[in-house]
Amino acid sequence: MKRALFPGSFDPITNGHYDIIKRGVKLFDEVVVAIGINADKNYMFSLEERKNFIEKAFENNEKVKVVTYEGLTVDFCESIDAKFILRGLRNPADFEFEKAIAHTNRKLSKIETVFLLTAAKTSFISSSIVRDVIRHKGDYTLLVPESVLVK
Ligand code: ADP
Repeated sequence: MKRALFPGSFDPITNGHYDIIKRGVKLFDEVVVAIGINADKNYMFSLEERKNFIEKAFENNEKVKVVTYEGLTVDFCESIDAKFILRGLRNPADFEFEKAIAHTNRKLSKIETVFLLTAAKTSFISSSIVRDVIRHKGDYTLLVPESVLVK
């Protein structure tokens, strides 16, 4: 079974993440969306809320699983037998950042990172911008899946 891990904070999931996951399931038998737990980060949404948003958005897609994890991403991949990491690329800054992580992960393991270029219509979206819009009571309905709007 070809299993890919899609790691991130998903605070909250955006239409950009959604697009990558939808396209990922066409390439892999299973996409495991993995919410990394980082004790040093301050999140807008709780771990449970972030997990619920993603589960609801993909409730009709049995190829998408949602989990939480701590520690090194490659160690977690090995523990669930995922041979691939899926990542989205929005712009050159993403590329530089992702390149260093992917090289490091290859040094640490045999896991391959597969990059998908983001869809043009969602490439400007980031969770941090969504959080800013929410904080300032703006309309964020066009930036996130419907599951994030139901509170
Ligand atoms: P982190 O907070 O750990 O950097 P994110 O949750 O922001 O992680 O992102 C997880 C993954 O989703 C990364 O591969 C990132 O490039 C990708 N991603 C983020 N925003 C978008 C977007 N608008 N379109 C496509 N991919 C995206």
